[in-house]
Amino acid sequence: MSSLLPPLREVIARHGLSASKALGQNFLLDEQLLDRIAAIPGDLSGRAVLEVGPGPGGLTRALLRAGARVTAIERDRRCLPALAELEVAFPGQLRVIEGDALRIDPASLFREPYVIVANLPYNVGTALFTGWLGGEAWTPEWTSLTLMFQQEVAERIVAAANTDAYGRLAVLAQWRSTAKIAMKVHRSAFTPPPKVMSAVVHVRPAAMPDGVSARMLERITEAAFGQRRKMLRQSLKGLPGALDALERLGIEDQRRAETLSVAEFVGLARELS
Ligand code: SAM
Repeated sequence: MSSLLPPLREVIARHGLSASKALGQNFLLDEQLLDRIAAIPGDLSGRAVLEVGPGPGGLTRALLRAGARVTAIERDRRCLPALAELEVAFPGQLRVIEGDALRIDPASLFREPYVIVANLPYNVGTALFTGWLGGEAWTPEWTSLTLMFQQEVAERIVAAANTDAYGRLAVLAQWRSTAKIAMKVHRSAFTPPPKVMSAVVHVRPAAMPDGVSARMLERITEAAFGQRRKMLRQSLKGLPGALDALERLGIEDQRRAETLSVAEFVGLARELS
């Protein structure tokens, strides 16, 4: 089927899809690279996939070629005619929803587990990511996330304790999921090229530790990393019971937030939950 599709450059030219800076549009046109990204979640044949921000449809094509049943949310209506061509080329495999992904609950779109794949602008990607990983309900309806980020953000997501990149995003991504960088993508792969390098992060949900409130963990990491250069006895003093909990757990209150492992943050949240 794909051999019948016109090159993405031609699709972009024919539909006048000049990249909009406001919508964070940096398109991927290399079909081999797109196939490699679509392979990251594993075998997609017959699987339900949510793609956020399909744009002219490069990644969408790769997902459809892999046999996925794709639901795509796109905010830029200029892209809809190009995506309609893909609906024709892959009958019954693609559903396009025009809208803002930040305002659509993905669970309302599916009656089965689904995989999320997206190449998104930085601010939208991080907001969606924290939303998908947050909340008390676990495990989520999605079975994996495959998301393009600025490399610096990807490194914050997978960071280990005692590094500059370690912070709230790392704890959020790692306390009940596994997160890894699956691929680095050079800025020159995008049209137009962004200023910075990118990386694809792959996240799978894991078992949630017992007796821990997600909200409490968020409050602790917010306080601790809000003053990351301060000792815990200073940064956590506004959180009722936190200093006693540190003592019960044998965590020195002179330590700084970035020295606590994800497991130590989870232990602290359990004490306070
Ligand atoms: N997936 C395409 C690719 O890989 O070439 C396009 C990627 S481009 C970086 C980001 C896309 O997300 C654009 O098509 C943009 O219009 C869309 N977008 C931006 N904000 C959005 C939002 N809030 N909801 C849905 N789509 C959005």
